Amino acid sequence: MRVLATLLFLFAIAAPSTTALPAQPAPASWRLASGTDAVSVTEATDRGYAAIPVSSLVNVGAQVAYEGGEVIVRMGGRQFALRVDSPGVRVDGQPRMLASPTYSQGGVIYVPTAFLAILGEMAGGAVSVDANARTLRVDPAALASAATRAPVTASVPNAPAAPNAPPRRRLIVVDAGHGGVDPGAQGPSGTREKHINLRISRRVAEILSADPTYEVRMTRDRDTLIALRDRGRMANAWRDEGQQALFMSIHCNANPSRAEAGYETYFLAEARTADAQRVQAMEDAAERYEERPNGHTPLDFIMSDLRQNQHLRESSDWAQMIQNRLREVHPGRSRGVKQAGFAVLVGAFMPAVLVEIGFISNRTEEAMLNDPEQQERIAQQLAQGVRDFFAASERRQSAGD
Ligand SMILES: [Zn+2]
Repeated sequence: MRVLATLLFLFAIAAPSTTALPAQPAPASWRLASGTDAVSVTEATDRGYAAIPVSSLVNVGAQVAYEGGEVIVRMGGRQFALRVDSPGVRVDGQPRMLASPTYSQGGVIYVPTAFLAILGEMAGGAVSVDANARTLRVDPAALASAATRAPVTASVPNAPAAPNAPPRRRLIVVDAGHGGVDPGAQGPSGTREKHINLRISRRVAEILSADPTYEVRMTRDRDTLIALRDRGRMANAWRDEGQQALFMSIHCNANPSRAEAGYETYFLAEARTADAQRVQAMEDAAERYEERPNGHTPLDFIMSDLRQNQHLRESSDWAQMIQNRLREVHPGRSRGVKQAGFAVLVGAFMPAVLVEIGFISNRTEEAMLNDPEQQERIAQQLAQGVRDFFAASERRQSAGD
């Protein structure tokens, strides 16, 4: 105790008092405005020049995506391609130079503020930039008309179907977690998660297939390993343009503490709690079995991609519907709707959830998960959760939302 007090004293005299420091200038910030909406974005100067997170441009109507190692910004019908650690930018394929490179720090991609001037110059008068006042102002109407007037080099993903197109079958992708050399978690009696996941996934697929308005696909229907990132890609490839689609990944949870029990449903977003991070690390560990693990795209990017952003709300609503359905039959407690950046959900451009149907590490729940009657009940409720989603979506549409 005495030693500690001495150390604290030494620290107190060694540390300069905050009032003695010269006043730090407040970090400069940019004002990004679109119509009457505006956000303030703090300028980063870690590299000795001013930069902002490129994802902040989504606030003023840009689409930002990470494609083939390039950062693609789409705005006003133009496409700007940037590359990390390069000062180059291609505008509709034409090379331009910035004074400083785009860079990545802490999982966030920063673009030099000089890029904003190029945006303003190229976006057809819809974007005005005042570098001295650190203001970028977008005229939303002019931006929309610029988007149709200028040559568009990339097709808009998932364009809505024509209003008088015939109704299409809705795509349901059922993803049984793990498989093949990846057994997933293991129960105290030796139950392997991959087998439970597959059994319940098959039943969910069978139940939904009985409804002719659903087109049901499984990422795996036997004991084989599919790379995590490929599962979402498969789902995207199965989906026709404009087709409504859902992605459901089915897993069993595990915890070193055998007392942990219950069910929880995740949607894709940054993990908020230590427990969500733990579950994400556990499920993403499947990548160690993959021959060619796919490169990781920063989550910042994935979430700034409008295709994912627009599904965020739908995914979290759907996760809640699934929790409500499981509550009717599950003997364990609801652990609620959670969020994490699961690799399997990252690439699916549709509402997507990962359901942890119970703890295989808990003796009681391991027995429950092995019980064919309980498996059937859980599968029925998961299928009902899919119907709930579309029923809610139809209610919203008929309400004119
Ligand atoms: Zn799992």
